[in-house]
Amino acid sequence: MKIALVTGANKGIGLAAARRLARDCGHVIVTARKADAGEEAADRLSREGHSVSSLAMDVTDPVSVRAAAAHVSQHFGHLDVLVNNAGILPEATNPEPTEVLDLAMFQQTYATNVLGAVAVLEAFLPLVRRSPAGRIVNVSSTVGSLAHQTDPDSPWHSMVVPAYQSSKAALNAITIVLSKALAGTQIKVTSVCPGWVQTDLAPGNREQAPLTPEEAADVIHRAARLGATDATGTFIDANGPVRW
Ligand code: NDP
Repeated sequence: MKIALVTGANKGIGLAAARRLARDCGHVIVTARKADAGEEAADRLSREGHSVSSLAMDVTDPVSVRAAAAHVSQHFGHLDVLVNNAGILPEATNPEPTEVLDLAMFQQTYATNVLGAVAVLEAFLPLVRRSPAGRIVNVSSTVGSLAHQTDPDSPWHSMVVPAYQSSKAALNAITIVLSKALAGTQIKVTSVCPGWVQTDLAPGNREQAPLTPEEAADVIHRAARLGATDATGTFIDANGPVRW
């Protein structure tokens, strides 16, 4: 049975990705830092007819991450699709103007967006290795693209959310490093930008975002279904490759 796991899947893009993956995976594990929020989301998807279960996992807590991996190992034995979706953008809701380089903001953002992703990858990689065609999807953002940040003609050039955008640049670097380390295996690693999506990530801008979470989930689904001859270590959005 094909098993997928999505982090931060209780709402937003993660929930939509879990729903999308559930259509063609045998089972989807909805993980959430708050157990009740994960259970609620899994109940919702179950009522829609999907095979899902929930699991508590706070990506900033290595004990929680290792316990979740042990649970998946015991109950499923392997993992075919791992979606590193959990992410935060505290700069969007910070009421205090801060210096460009705000250590506390960087620590908070990196704890989830970078170190959280690394903790999940470290704990679950042995399970993905047991899949005949493992797929790892890191949910990144074009605002993390160094090529766009340094291109004055890019629409992303003027975007300044230092902790967030550098955290996504770091996540992209992790995609590259991991894909190289896994060259020659069946596993493919992809960074995806879901686009600008109506979620709670940046509540003040939510109404202006053009995409629904369901629309955004398509690119995650595409990365999760790469074929054996497709490239690993790429950065894509709905329109194809994104410059790093
Ligand atoms: P939401 O705020 O709607 O969802 C974020 C999810 O991450 C929630 O389920 C949240 O859980 C979870 N999460 C946060 N911290 C942790 C943690 N420590 N452990 C486990 N889960 C955690 O935002 P989105 O759906 O928009 O964001 C999903 C991903 O998409 C993020 O990585 C984001 O950076 C990325 N992205 C989003 C874009 C957008 O326009 N919305 C654009 C580009 C990228 P809880 O409910 O408990 O807070």
